[in-house]
Amino acid sequence: MEVDTPLSSTDIGPSPALTVVVPMYNEEDVLPLFVDRMRPVLDGLQADYEVVAVDDGSKDATPVLLQRFLRDWPQLRVVRLRANAGHQAAISAGLLAARGEWIVTIDADLQDPPETIADMYHAALEQDVDVVYGVRTDRSTDSAFKRHTAGAFYRLMRRLSKLDISHDAGDFRLMSRATVDAVNALPENNRVLRLVVPTLGFPSTTVGYRRDERAAGESKYPLSKMIRLSVDSVTGFSLAPLRLASWFSVIGFAVAILLMIYVVISKINGGVASGWASTVVIVAAFSALQLLCLGILGEYVGRTYNAMQQRPAYYVAYDSLRATELQPTDE
Ligand code: UDP
Ligand code: MG
Repeated sequence: MEVDTPLSSTDIGPSPALTVVVPMYNEEDVLPLFVDRMRPVLDGLQADYEVVAVDDGSKDATPVLLQRFLRDWPQLRVVRLRANAGHQAAISAGLLAARGEWIVTIDADLQDPPETIADMYHAALEQDVDVVYGVRTDRSTDSAFKRHTAGAFYRLMRRLSKLDISHDAGDFRLMSRATVDAVNALPENNRVLRLVVPTLGFPSTTVGYRRDERAAGESKYPLSKMIRLSVDSVTGFSLAPLRLASWFSVIGFAVAILLMIYVVISKINGGVASGWASTVVIVAAFSALQLLCLGILGEYVGRTYNAMQQRPAYYVAYDSLRATELQPTDE
């Protein structure tokens, strides 16, 4: 049995002060550590809370462990997706499920310290803002490759989208109910949340934190997923790549004119204007450019196609809030 969406704030009962949304994909190694560290922090907040663990179609023992934790952590709620839908989709599922007045999204691998949630929560209340971005003050624990690619990504996105995307802001952030409602109301399916949230224009502040090393297990973000995220970010926020094709055509036109002049002059001077090598180089170069432009066009057409189909970015297999109706084995 399958449902399209988790139960949301409008469906069910009293709303807690805080919801913690945690996407998890194959996190069996880290999960016990996460619970051990997160629970005391939240219990110490003196606010009622819920934790929405979004199991992003894990194939390891994550769902089994979550079922076990469900038994003795009443504030835990599990939303399991049918298949691996990706980090951003998993967070989106969690945001839709969240019932809290405040909602924080955090990675499961303890790279974002749970203790910072308390700082964010207090910052939001004291400064009367809707969004508190967690900003990494120290990324020395990330690999040099990750730091450089991330740095380039944020620079590019700032230029393309003209947005003030706070540098090094990931997906560790606290949002008000109003903000999350605005996110949930967005029609697009492939949301890159760290870019979407700033566009909503809610008053915000930042809280710095030290990004730790992954507590256990391995990164679930291979290069292919990083590239996917970048492509979604660029195509979702900018038409600049499409305009690239126009620029290429101008450059191509100029090169063609120069070549023509060259050919005519060498012909007049009795030289040989043809040559296998130059022909091959020119044909290959321009074919490559054309394919690049087609590829770019394809990305946008694909995005439009997806948007038009309105197919959900994920399917919910199980929501522990309605566990009486649905069991994980019903999948
Ligand atoms: N994640 C997910 N679905 C995916 C990939 C990752 O829910 O397809 C979760 C993962 O379990 C973790 C968070 O997203 O809680 C960030 O992933 P990870 O720590 O592997 O990324 P990195 O920190 O290496 O960029
Ligand atoms: Mg991580």
